[in-house]
Amino acid sequence: MILPIVAFGDPVLKKKAAPITKDYPKLKELIADMYDTMYHAHGVGLAAPQIGLSIQLFITDGAPFEEEDVKDFKKVFINPVITHEEGNFWTFNEGCLSIPDVREDVDRPEIVHISYYDENFKFHENVVYSGLSARIIQHEYDHIQGVLFTDHLSALRKRLLKKKLIDISKGRIDVGYRMKFPSK
Ligand code: ZN
Repeated sequence: MILPIVAFGDPVLKKKAAPITKDYPKLKELIADMYDTMYHAHGVGLAAPQIGLSIQLFITDGAPFEEEDVKDFKKVFINPVITHEEGNFWTFNEGCLSIPDVREDVDRPEIVHISYYDENFKFHENVVYSGLSARIIQHEYDHIQGVLFTDHLSALRKRLLKKKLIDISKGRIDVGYRMKFPSK
């Protein structure tokens, strides 16, 4: 089932999400719905706060990038902890399903070490990702900390984007997928 994606300006996107236990109600269905929602919107990652749930869960699928290192990057991350980041900072032009039509360059370290539970609540300790898969993880991990990619921009870039972000929060935008606007 395709769920509406919460737009910029909704307080749920600014909140630190809570961990869940393996008896979280209808977890399998929730994950399936999140995949439907992400694919419908042509995303490569989706975090639970983006569908209005303040829990520590995000999903990924790097296939749309058509690059070797993310081809098989369809994964579910539950209660993840980034334990370490390393490598050179590199720039990537990021976007976000909650902030349609906005793309900005963001600098992040190349490599992440992450511990997490998968969809079967199997624990994975200190798995290392680099390149685009690391980038997707960093962006989605930010979401469950209540951080958006626009928070990483310079004061000047933020100022230039301000009107556009207000328009998005008020639903004054054409989007090809279902959204929920905080002040429409
Ligand atoms: Zn995002």
